[in-house]
Amino acid sequence: MQPTAEPHNATLVEKTPLETYVPPAKPSLIGLSRTELADRLGDIGVAPAQRKMRVQQLWHWLYFRGAQSFDDMTSISKSIRAELAQHFTVDRPEVVAEQISNDGTRKWLLRLPSGDSVQKAHEVECVYIPETDRGTLCVSSQVGCTLNCSFCHTGTQRLVRNLTAGEIVGQVMVARDRLNDWADREDGTRRVTNIVMMGMGEPLYNFDAVRDALLIVGDNEGIGISRRRITLSTSGVVPNIVRAGEEIGVMLAISLHAVRDELRNELVPLNRKYPIKELLQACRDYPGASNARRITFEYVMLKGVNDSLDDAKLLVKMLKGIPAKINLIPFNPWPGTAYECSDWDQIEKFSEYIFNAGYSSPVRTPRGRDILAACGQLKSETEKLSARERQALRAMAMTD
Ligand code: SAH
Ligand code: SF4
Repeated sequence: MQPTAEPHNATLVEKTPLETYVPPAKPSLIGLSRTELADRLGDIGVAPAQRKMRVQQLWHWLYFRGAQSFDDMTSISKSIRAELAQHFTVDRPEVVAEQISNDGTRKWLLRLPSGDSVQKAHEVECVYIPETDRGTLCVSSQVGCTLNCSFCHTGTQRLVRNLTAGEIVGQVMVARDRLNDWADREDGTRRVTNIVMMGMGEPLYNFDAVRDALLIVGDNEGIGISRRRITLSTSGVVPNIVRAGEEIGVMLAISLHAVRDELRNELVPLNRKYPIKELLQACRDYPGASNARRITFEYVMLKGVNDSLDDAKLLVKMLKGIPAKINLIPFNPWPGTAYECSDWDQIEKFSEYIFNAGYSSPVRTPRGRDILAACGQLKSETEKLSARERQALRAMAMTD
């Protein structure tokens, strides 16, 4: 057998200790809008008449070519490059670990400055999932999450902060760097074709940064991933759903998971604030939703909890009139959870009912479970795992 180019189930970058982390001394330009870039150029003395042209050049180098240093930006005058390098960087979040699953999924652990002296750095994860016809990057919007959904590992993480727009765009840029996926790929194809805001955090509780980042990611003079290929997943922050449609214009996914308020209050506690009826109304009002641009309803399959045929029936009934598709997600276990994934034949029965009612109902194949990269398994080690948790993780990875 030929040796494979990339080792399976491999760790390519070994994690460096948190104590060695040195926060960046200068701000990065990644994540700035054109207007903000023009302002920064003004700060370093670029004349107003020149700024527009310089911004265009910078934009091209940063977001189209993926330049990793000002030196690479050969169309910009040497003196401006030197001035830029003196005050700014083009740094992305630091990659402190990279793992490749035996199914090709890659997970990067990224380290970010915390801004406080006690806890020197924060960590988030970002996952790349290659498929035959696409490559999807699962991006985080927060360190941890404030929402505590009872089946989600991220929700158990205590430490929370919003990511900046630069840290969100930076995840896409890290993936392009690591996958050699910038404009100069020889065959002209792209590895990262789709973005899902389904990593750590609730994107609609970090609205401005997520909006600014996605507008950059979608800009066709730069990273150029079309808005139809970007999906924002929310647990149901109702007031920001319509806003997301108006101000970002990406595809919407709703983490529904239950069809009755009583159960959804338990699974997704945010439901107590924004119950199912209000959530579905926001979906009906979502700008741009149509049969060609359906809203995805995510439904995690929890054994004996939400997986009966009665649930399936009610689900079909309540989505009437909404251009919807339903995504069934087999529950991904994590150490300490009391939930179990539904039996496979129950998932099939549930899926068949929905399919017969006219909905496409793909069951999301769990990817990257061996490296804990699957939905809901992300939890950075900013909080250290206990020895027992580590053992449980290893045991789980082996049985998958
Ligand atoms: N906070 C946002 C986006 C991140 S979670 C949201 O909740 O929508 C991305 C998806 O993974 C959500 O649908 C979430 O409900 C689901 N998820 C969380 N934990 C899971 C688990 N253990 N197994 C399967 N899916 C899970
Ligand atoms: Fe937060 Fe989403 Fe996890 Fe709920 S499912 S705790 S909203 S990341």
